[in-house]
Amino acid sequence: MTAIRIDGKAVAEALRATIGEAVASLNVTPGLAVVLVGEDPASQVYVRNKIKACAEAGIDSFHHTLPVETSQADLLELLDRLNADASVHGILVQLPLPGHIDEQTVIERIDPAKDVDGFHPVNVGRLSLGLPALEPCTPRGCVILAQSVQPDLSGLHAVIVGRSNIVGKPMAQMLLAENCTVTIAHSRTRDLAAMCRQADILVAAVGRPQMIKGEWIKPGAIVLDVGINRIPREDGSGKNRLVGDVAYAEAAEVASAITPVPGGVGPMTIAGLLRNTVIAAARLAGEAVPGSISR
Ligand code: NDP
Repeated sequence: MTAIRIDGKAVAEALRATIGEAVASLNVTPGLAVVLVGEDPASQVYVRNKIKACAEAGIDSFHHTLPVETSQADLLELLDRLNADASVHGILVQLPLPGHIDEQTVIERIDPAKDVDGFHPVNVGRLSLGLPALEPCTPRGCVILAQSVQPDLSGLHAVIVGRSNIVGKPMAQMLLAENCTVTIAHSRTRDLAAMCRQADILVAAVGRPQMIKGEWIKPGAIVLDVGINRIPREDGSGKNRLVGDVAYAEAAEVASAITPVPGGVGPMTIAGLLRNTVIAAARLAGEAVPGSISR
């Protein structure tokens, strides 16, 4: 079997077009505040991409770059101002933060109604209770990609490798809500290969290049590769290339559908952020969330 290559870029572009239409249908202009502390080059790229994507969707963005030595108290004070600012509907603090700032304290200072990353305990709790919530963007992107090849996931056994708060755990809640039977694997799981072989849907969110081999995949499985890893290119150029947590070529021989890296899950994350910002703006403005983006 040669798997369908799930084109995350195309799915994300279609979603972004829908989001643009949803923005145009609102009476309020959604606004996203992006806060970056320090000058980490990768974070700068992520922030630039988010701001560009906002502009394309008709969303206002407010960029706050703070020096690396910014105190936690000053960062919290900025968040208080953004929480109170009626033109800001979404607040995103780019992670990781410098070591002297406690990430959880920062996450919990964001108004849950503006928490477009979906990391605040209120949104985490609401997601686990099956209540409307601002949901973490990457796992939601994975569900959308899985449903692009199999709309009804009901009854499938999903194995998620990785139990982080930003990917693995919310992924489990979302797939449970889609009536999957869910197993979460992690670094202490015994016989991970055998566990993966049981998966109708296999989600890899580990951060180890090409760790999941073709022979770990159940024939016909849907494979969603969240991992983003840089490894040296084979051409001796000294440059790096991106790979996922799954050995793509081997896995594609066995799976029915698989996301590539790059071009799979990654593009869905920014689309999810835009979607959350529009949902937050509609709710805060007392308008109906446009049906096209409310799922
Ligand atoms: P974390 O480092 O927070 O979590 C990694 C998880 O993998 C942990 O639960 C860990 O287990 C588990 N793990 C580590 N080694 C093994 C192993 N040998 N066998 C089984 N499980 C193992 O990572 P994140 O969830 O933040 O990210 C995972 C990957 O996804 C990274 O490559 C990251 O770059 C990428 N990512 C991509 C995004 C996108 O937009 N596409 C967004 C977010 C992340 P334990 O808990 O026991 O330590």
